[in-house]
Amino acid sequence: MAKSLMIVDDSATMRKIIMRTVRMSGLKFERTEEAGNGAEALQKLGGSPVDIILCDVNMPEMMGTELVKKVRELDSCANTKIVMVSTESSKELIDGVMADGANGFINKPFTPEKFQEKLSPLID
Ligand SMILES: [Mg+2]
Repeated sequence: MAKSLMIVDDSATMRKIIMRTVRMSGLKFERTEEAGNGAEALQKLGGSPVDIILCDVNMPEMMGTELVKKVRELDSCANTKIVMVSTESSKELIDGVMADGANGFINKPFTPEKFQEKLSPLID
């Protein structure tokens, strides 16, 4: 089935690195979107939801942790899986964001294998 992906990170370079790593992982997405912060992501998701969001934590305008809560309020994104991608890895942060509705957590730096491991169970 055709799948769609949104990469949300305030660093354009990091978005490129994530995109390249996703490609190297062998996972296939028919449509990919990018957003520079949570607010921009929400705006884009309102028009067309995606299957998977890869979401940074620290961003201006709206943090990734806040974006998770907002996405979970959207009926249109009920089936959207959210995987956080961050250098932060405190148990408190991870537990909190998972409780708010995230589906996974990938630490930076990451590998294509890690993307494959964490994302493939979320894609069926
Ligand atoms: Mg950031």
